[in-house]
Amino acid sequence: MEPEELIESLTPDNRTKVGIKMSGGTDSSLAAYLLAKKFSRDSKKRQIIPIIITEPKAPFQLQFASQVIAFIESQFAFRFQTPETFLLQQEDKIDFMRTIENQLFTNDTVDLVISAVTHEPKDPTFDYKHGPDDDRTQENQKNLWDDRILTPFINIDKKEIADYYVKNDLIESLFNLTRSCVSTTKDFSFHCGKCWWCKERLWAFGRL
Ligand SMILES: [Zn+2]
Repeated sequence: MEPEELIESLTPDNRTKVGIKMSGGTDSSLAAYLLAKKFSRDSKKRQIIPIIITEPKAPFQLQFASQVIAFIESQFAFRFQTPETFLLQQEDKIDFMRTIENQLFTNDTVDLVISAVTHEPKDPTFDYKHGPDDDRTQENQKNLWDDRILTPFINIDKKEIADYYVKNDLIESLFNLTRSCVSTTKDFSFHCGKCWWCKERLWAFGRL
């Protein structure tokens, strides 16, 4: 299925407060874009609450996610809720995510969380095995609130995300507002081209 079909097929039921993890990268930005598109046509009053984790070593997530949100709001008759922002204060990002999710569900801030994590590159020539030990596999997503955490893009890879950007004329707009690079820098005007995320972005999109 294509990214838009995957988001369309999500059924929030009576749950109206949908949290979405936004990193400012291409995958979560597209998920937020398609979700806002879907909800802008929905008669029920759905809310999208961006969940943004900023890493002190490379605090670009808030800046990029914010400009992505501004772009999406300019495209659809839809307004995001005020983002829930968190500063990563520990090494283990997965564990930190679990803590945040637990807090957001317990406080009734969100009913659902969408994680736009994609499949690792399906291209056997792409050396993904040396990729980061992140939350790519569903196995690592398991926690107490499993049935409330949705991963619509878990079976498609970044090239399939890129195909959607190209086909829907989103390269010069949405794509250019995103950042995948995680190199430690405070200058976000360029992608390093060397980190794993840059390599995956280049593989999928043919550009940084
Ligand atoms: Zn990089």
